[in-house]
Amino acid sequence: MKRREFLSMTGMIAAAGVASPMLSSCCEDSKGNVNLKNITRKYETDVLVVGGGPAGVCAAVAAAREGVNVMVVETAGFLGGMATRSLVGPFMTCFDADGEQMIIKGLFEEVVDRMVAKGGAIHPKDVRATTPYSAWITAGHDHCTPFEPECMKVVLDEMVEEAGVKVLFHTNFVEPIINDGRITGVVIANKAGMQIVNAKVVIDCTGDGDVAYRSGVPCHFGNDKGKPQPSTAFFHINNVDYKKLEADVEKHLHEFRKVDGVSYRALHWWVAEAEKNGEWDIARKSVNIYKCVKPDEWCVNCSRIQNVDATDPESMTKGEIEGRKQIQQLMNFFHKYVPGCENATLMASGSHLGIRESRHIEGDYILTAEDLLSAKMFEDSVFVTASAVDVHGSGGGMKTQYTPLTAGKWYGIPYRSLLPKGVEGLLVAGRCLSATSDAAGAIRVMPPAMAMGQAAGAAASLAVKNSVTPRGVDVPELLDVLRRQKVFLGE
Ligand SMILES: Cc1cc2nc3c(=O)[nH]c(=O)nc-3n(C[C@H](O)[C@H](O)[C@H](O)COP(=O)(O)OP(=O)(O)OC[C@H]3O[C@@H](n4cnc5c(N)ncnc54)[C@H](O)[C@@H]3O)c2cc1C
Repeated sequence: MKRREFLSMTGMIAAAGVASPMLSSCCEDSKGNVNLKNITRKYETDVLVVGGGPAGVCAAVAAAREGVNVMVVETAGFLGGMATRSLVGPFMTCFDADGEQMIIKGLFEEVVDRMVAKGGAIHPKDVRATTPYSAWITAGHDHCTPFEPECMKVVLDEMVEEAGVKVLFHTNFVEPIINDGRITGVVIANKAGMQIVNAKVVIDCTGDGDVAYRSGVPCHFGNDKGKPQPSTAFFHINNVDYKKLEADVEKHLHEFRKVDGVSYRALHWWVAEAEKNGEWDIARKSVNIYKCVKPDEWCVNCSRIQNVDATDPESMTKGEIEGRKQIQQLMNFFHKYVPGCENATLMASGSHLGIRESRHIEGDYILTAEDLLSAKMFEDSVFVTASAVDVHGSGGGMKTQYTPLTAGKWYGIPYRSLLPKGVEGLLVAGRCLSATSDAAGAIRVMPPAMAMGQAAGAAASLAVKNSVTPRGVDVPELLDVLRRQKVFLGE
């Protein structure tokens, strides 16, 4: 059976209602034909969210709170994606470009408030730029949110449980089931074998656009040369004499600068020393080290691994190994050079390499950096943000294009950018939305990813309730749902 036929055949099997547990088997013979012998289980849901990262959790909760059945399938054993799996943090700013007003609200704000109540986050109103919580960075780093990944895992579990979302961990999306140009479900795989989830609407929150890509949606990888932003293996350290560390950096604050696109920020004076001694070969000139909720715990965003293709396991394997090598080099650097870090302990590294960029799907609207930087609003803006364009590795390994918004207080993200071309019944939310590489470089950060998820979830619930496809959702009605769900729409 050829792949296309396989997809429609799996649809037929699902329709026939194969539910009894049996030995599952799906293999490809030497001619590339696929044999799907058995499916061990079949699930039915209104909305299926693939990927339980920042976007996926918000999509699931937003939809479930509107009264539809929701299921999430997630590869890891917990929710949160990069925030928990890769230890990425803090949340970048959720305030307007002047740092005056919190503009990403809704479920993002609820997650933050719940973590603050548990002592697992510091509210962004209390976190300012040019402080240890923002790695002493000024532009774009006002009102970040430091949080503890372990606290986030618990809060997200609570939120999906309260909303009645069915979550299936340790489960991978395999293939879409497409009937007459509409996605009607997906094949998933886990320790129990291959299963089917039939859904009225599917939301792709995999970060890499896995569902969209396999459904035939046009996608492009990385920038216009096909290159992704570099990857980073995040890690946390503790046992730091933070007073000594902070005093050392603050003594050098006046030396922070950008030269020919390369940032010289915290600890660049020690990096120069280590370079001279042949003990530094990472493609960065300084260390982004963010103070966490506990004063002696720090989140390190510094390793730099070029040309990792997150959609290719061979490339990911090399990237993970290189990331761990760079973490060892960085730990040696902290111990030998950095005041206050002589006895620093490596608490944990991310269990998944931090991926800034992979596929971008093509949707009904392709968002551009010009849209963002001109503070454009759209009739179908489903949330607003002021995230700066932040493209690492652009124009050379060490260079970063960082362009904050100056033309206004915020810009809008149109619903059409969540609607992939070429297939019905599918929404996409998170870093792989329909945007150019530069625009995605701005809205890939977690607060907008969560707002995007919420918008997609609310839209999916309306599509189910009104028996339309996501493309047929009435935009004013969607905006009303989002307002009721406490999303700020810039009004
Ligand atoms: C190095 C780096 C630094 C960053 N710095 C910051 C920062 O300081 N602040 C900030 O706010 N943001 C930052 N970001 C951006 C941010 O972390 C991500 O862009 C954001 O997490 C995207 O959210 P998402 O939900 O789209 O994707 P992800 O967080 O990647 O979540 C996707 C989820 O889908 C699951 N999944 C993927 N494929 C499948 C599949 N086939 N089947 C089942 N499940 C699947 C994954 O396990 C994961 O849980 C950074 C990112 C990186 C990589």
